[in-house]
Amino acid sequence: MSRQRIIRTIASAAIIITLLLSCGAGKRTADNDENDSISTDITASISFSADSAYSYVARQVEFGPRVPGSEAHKKCGDWLTEKLKSYGAEVTEQTATLTTFDGTKIPMRNIFARINPNAEKRILLLAHWDSRPWADNDPDPDKHSTPVDGANDGASGTGVLLELARSIEKGDTAPGVDILLCDAEDWGEEQNDESWAMGARYFANNLPQNGYMPSAALLLDMVGAPDATFMREYFSQLANPALADQIWSIAKNLGHEQMFVNRMGSAVNDDHVELIKAGIPTIDIIDYREGSGFFSGWHTASDNMDCISKETLKAVGEILETYIKQ
Ligand SMILES: [Zn+2]
Repeated sequence: MSRQRIIRTIASAAIIITLLLSCGAGKRTADNDENDSISTDITASISFSADSAYSYVARQVEFGPRVPGSEAHKKCGDWLTEKLKSYGAEVTEQTATLTTFDGTKIPMRNIFARINPNAEKRILLLAHWDSRPWADNDPDPDKHSTPVDGANDGASGTGVLLELARSIEKGDTAPGVDILLCDAEDWGEEQNDESWAMGARYFANNLPQNGYMPSAALLLDMVGAPDATFMREYFSQLANPALADQIWSIAKNLGHEQMFVNRMGSAVNDDHVELIKAGIPTIDIIDYREGSGFFSGWHTASDNMDCISKETLKAVGEILETYIKQ
C-alpha cells in the first residue's frame, strides 16, 4: 500500500462504510465502563510469550520471501498449517488461482484456523502472511525488483497470531477464536486499489460457512517495529468504534499507552476494509506514524529481523490475549 493510495481511497471506502453503518451492520455504541474493570488477575496471568512470537517471525523469514508462487511461500504455508494444527486448531485452507494487476497467475492460499470450535461466540484475528515481491521503496534503485523479507510487513502479525494459537486456553468453556492468515495482500501497485488485499477479498466473498459472522475481528499488520506507534485507524473507527475503545483502553491498563496512542490516525486501505464491506466489524492494528508514515523498512530490502522488537510483539500479544479473555 502507499500513502497516495491511502488518501485516494478515503472517499470511496468511507461512503461504503457509512452505508454499512447506516444499515446497522456495524452499529455499536462506545462504552468504556467495562474496560475500566479489567481485573489485575487477568493482567497478571498473561500466557503470551514474546520470545516464542519472535521465534515464529524469524522462522517465517528463514524460509525466504513468501512471494505467492515461490517455493518459500509453499513451504512456509505448509509450516503455518502444521503449526496451527499442532496447537489443536481445526485448519482449513482456501485456495484459488488469482490474476494479479500485472497479469501474473498466483496460487492464493488463505489459512483459516478455528480454536475451540464449539464456542458459539467467535472472535476473528487476522494478518497477512505473504511478503511483497519487490522492494520498490528501497533507497537503492538496484533493489527495486528484489523481493522483501517481510519480517515486519507480514511475518510479525502472523507470528503474534501463532503464539496466541499456542498460548490461549483450550476447552469447551474457553473463548472461540478464529485465526485467518490472508495471502496476497502485498502484490499491489500504487493508484490501483483493487490490486491489493486479494486474499482478504477472496475470504470476504467466500466466507467459510453460510452466515459466518464473528462478534469482532482484529487485523494485525506491521506489529513488530521497535518504534511502533499504533493510532486509531480511520476506517476501523468508522466500522467498530467500541472495539477500538476496548483495545486502546486495555493498552492503557497494561501500560502500553505510549505505543498505543489513543488518537485518530490516518486511513489505511488494508485487509480489514474487505471484511468491513462484508459486514464483519473489523479494526486494524497497524503501525502508521503521523508525518513519517510506515516504519522505515517498509517495502525495502531492510525489512528483516532488525525491524523486529520483542517489546512491541509483547505489547500487541498481551493486549489481544487480555481482550480475548474478557
Ligand atoms: Zn506491504
